[in-house]
Amino acid sequence: MKNRLIQNRRRFLKNSSLATAGVLLAPLGSYSLGPRAGYSGQSALLGGSPIRTSPWPEWPVWNNATDDELVMKTLRSGVWSRAGLVNEFEATWARETGTSRCLSVVNGTNALITALLQMDIGAGDEVIVPVYTFIATVQAVLATGAMPVFVDTDLQTFQIDTSKIEAKISSRTRAIIPVHILGLPADMITINRIARKHNLLVIEDACQAHFAEINHKRVGSFGDAGCFSFQNSKNLAIGEGGAITSNNQSFMDKCYSYHNYGNPYGASVGNVSAGTAIIGNKLRWTEYQAAVGLVQLKRLEEQTARRNSNAAYLRSKIIQIPGIVPYKLYDHVTRAAFHIFAFRYQKETFKGLSRTAFIKAMQAEGIPCSEGYSTLNKMPYLANAFQSKNYRKMYSARELDINKYNERNQCPLNDRLCNEEAVWIFHSVLLAEQKDMDDISNAIEKIYQNAEDLKKLQ
Ligand SMILES: *Cc1c(COP(=O)(O)O)cnc(C)c1O
Repeated sequence: MKNRLIQNRRRFLKNSSLATAGVLLAPLGSYSLGPRAGYSGQSALLGGSPIRTSPWPEWPVWNNATDDELVMKTLRSGVWSRAGLVNEFEATWARETGTSRCLSVVNGTNALITALLQMDIGAGDEVIVPVYTFIATVQAVLATGAMPVFVDTDLQTFQIDTSKIEAKISSRTRAIIPVHILGLPADMITINRIARKHNLLVIEDACQAHFAEINHKRVGSFGDAGCFSFQNSKNLAIGEGGAITSNNQSFMDKCYSYHNYGNPYGASVGNVSAGTAIIGNKLRWTEYQAAVGLVQLKRLEEQTARRNSNAAYLRSKIIQIPGIVPYKLYDHVTRAAFHIFAFRYQKETFKGLSRTAFIKAMQAEGIPCSEGYSTLNKMPYLANAFQSKNYRKMYSARELDINKYNERNQCPLNDRLCNEEAVWIFHSVLLAEQKDMDDISNAIEKIYQNAEDLKKLQ
């Protein structure tokens, strides 16, 4: 009854010019009665008022007053190819990740490819990857001619299930790519222990995990190399961009050389008078990219802190709603990046309301969310790679039997996560105020209360 009154009042306010006065809306915030409020207005999909109509923070962030200057100065200088600002960004990123070297490259995908190639990974090698990741992790392995081997997902953490890694190691396994997916650190302590035991290289895919930490040490500094992305959606957004971090000097010299046509670099790759030394590519940054990166870097610390506190608050609220199981962090994680705020939705508890319908209802309440990744081990690119000229030269027909490959690479828990349970909220939502997080938990509560009626819409 009370909720009905609130609804009517909201509708009235919405339709009256007074609503724009803002102040009148403030007392309506009082329906956030603390944890487990049992909020139960009518679902927006069923004709009720949406929980939220005001916008969420935009992404990426740009402040003309503070951000234009360096970029404009760079444009007007005419020094646009790699020079001082790129060096400065790399030195800063190495320091921030706690590594001795950083190399910028055009994107995260090519950071991974470069790292794999300069570790001499290629034809005949197997590389272990989590199945719950962005497609680029796997494409990078295929770009080298190696075989990706998928490991199933730990549903609690959304990360690679370390208890299933050793069963996937063969005499051909050369490396493992742990991905700190969703910006939540993977269990690097266990992964590094397994890697040492089996003599495997470790390349961290930290493309979503800027400034995430394990035991107060930043990700990207745990493996033989770390790879980052600065694509527009990432927590440090440049539009496009990537980086490799490492403490291995000769490896980083090789990566530098590779990203610059294979020309000699540092103490390890060739000597200048002998000419081009190794197989190369061209993956360099522009100066104005570095300028945008340096500007964005200034706010990354504050944004990361805010995402962490809002995520912890929101988690503590939604964990109390039946059928909602938020991400779990490993014990040694001291900070996450929260590229995505994720939880699992268990429809049995919501009267069988499908995840698709749940997400639609959330969006109608003004809460942006999505289903996240599809099952990467079941897409056509794998069979296509195996049919390619290069793969047929590198592997025997038996090794390229896609049915056998699929059999070995089944990941049933990940199927459930992707096809039925995962719900994602994008990181920029976590940059709002703490009280805005109540809108999210209230929306879920409301859908929980309306599940029966919402199901009839299906
Ligand atoms: C974004 C991303 C990449 C690729 O980065 P790009 O800059 O888009 O090439 C690789 N791995 C993961 C986990 C990512 O999220």
